[in-house]
Formats: sequence, C-alpha cells, structure tokens
Amino acid sequence: MDPVNDNDLPVDPPKACAICGKPATVRFRPFCSKRCADVDLNRWLKGAYAIPAVEDPDEDVSEPPRG
Ligand SMILES: [Zn+2]
Repeated sequence: MDPVNDNDLPVDPPKACAICGKPATVRFRPFCSKRCADVDLNRWLKGAYAIPAVEDPDEDVSEPPRG
C-alpha cells in the first residue's frame, strides 16, 4: 500500500497557536480555534482600554509637608 496524501494543496509550515501553542488551523489562524482567537481579541481590547500604569520614580507621588 502506498501512502496517499489527501491534501493536494501545498502544506503550510506548521505554526503554533499564539495562545495555547497548538498547531494553528487555516480557519482560525494564526490561532488553533475560535476560542483562542477570542482570547487574543479580548487581550487586545483590554490592552486598548486599560490605562497603562506607568510608575515614575522621579516624580514625587506624595509631597513632603513643608516645615
Ligand atoms: Zn490555541
């Protein structure tokens, strides 16, 4: 029996899902499933709306009472 390839299309290089690391599917790439795609989307949205908490050590947070 000869090994038969069902896919005539050229095989894309296997890419790992950016979320879970599983092989990404063509439909949801670069993710493996819609779930992982949603996870990434939520991360992006949260990141977009979230206020970056930047701590400035140089800036005086609390002013010392002047004596
Ligand atoms: Zn995944």
